[in-house]
Amino acid sequence: MKKKPFLIPSACAGILLIACAILGYQYATLDTRYKSLETEAFHLQEDNSDLNTQLEATSSELEDNASQLESNASKLEEQEKYIAGQKDYISQLSEQIDSLTKDGSSDSSSGGDSWEYDPDNDSFPNLYAATDGEEPQNNAKYVYLTFDDGPSSLTPKVLDLLDQYNAKATFFVVQKNNEEYEEYLSEIVKRGHTLALHSYSHNYNEIYSSVDAFLADYEKVYDWVKEKTGYTPSLFRFPGGSNNGSSYVGHQIIKEMERRGFVYFDWSVSSGDGSNLTTTENIIDNICTHVGTVDLPIVLMHDGSGKDATLAALPSVLQYLADEGYEFRSLDKNVEPVQFRSSSPKE
Ligand code: ZN
Repeated sequence: MKKKPFLIPSACAGILLIACAILGYQYATLDTRYKSLETEAFHLQEDNSDLNTQLEATSSELEDNASQLESNASKLEEQEKYIAGQKDYISQLSEQIDSLTKDGSSDSSSGGDSWEYDPDNDSFPNLYAATDGEEPQNNAKYVYLTFDDGPSSLTPKVLDLLDQYNAKATFFVVQKNNEEYEEYLSEIVKRGHTLALHSYSHNYNEIYSSVDAFLADYEKVYDWVKEKTGYTPSLFRFPGGSNNGSSYVGHQIIKEMERRGFVYFDWSVSSGDGSNLTTTENIIDNICTHVGTVDLPIVLMHDGSGKDATLAALPSVLQYLADEGYEFRSLDKNVEPVQFRSSSPKE
């Protein structure tokens, strides 16, 4: 019986020890596990922060790429604009080349907003070069009326009409058969017109037969004008125009007359009144429809005997040209001459 009480506590203590050992072991195991979990958590945390950093880096990289793309796109746009501009420039250049190669014809419309010549262009109103002798006024339009084959009974009426418009003109006079009207020569000069030579005889066969024949004819009419007016003429017009007569004689005469200081004028607008079939209406029409088509309108008319249709047309012509803003000028040596033929036989 005595052994029993001792046995029980021993058993209890043994069990307790075993329990303690188990608990101790479990504690140690748990601690180890806790520590390993702690380490694992730490590692995971580290990994996480690495991932975060990586993510941040990636997203900033993406952002960079996006802004790069954007700037590339805008550069591309600029390049496209530049190329389009270059294309425009090239097409303008090729249009210019086209218009230059088209035989110099400037009236081919090159279209678009390219510059076109306009004889009435009023931009840059002060940019006009000076010419010899006179300062051109801005946008001034000059017309040069010329009267051949006078003086005649019509001349004083022509002079009065010109005065009404404060118009100056040029008279290319013929002596033969007109001497009874010679008093009008000085009247022409007095009223501020230009007195110029046309011929003594106005006979083509005579005057164009040789240079000397021409000079002999001209000497007569020159002396006549100087004697009657005291005025020394310096301009002349060939009977029939400079295209009349043989070309050889024509060139030689021009050369010789130029050597003597004379300047000859043909015309750029013909009234058509050389023919007696031309009516007053025809004359008005011929002048008014053509005067605006030339740069320098030098109008051929006649005030010789029988040219009543011209006299009748004159008021309408003067009125029309005045309305169109023309200033009526007389010719002088400073006016660039209209000439059908030069002193050189090359043409
Ligand atoms: Zn004539």
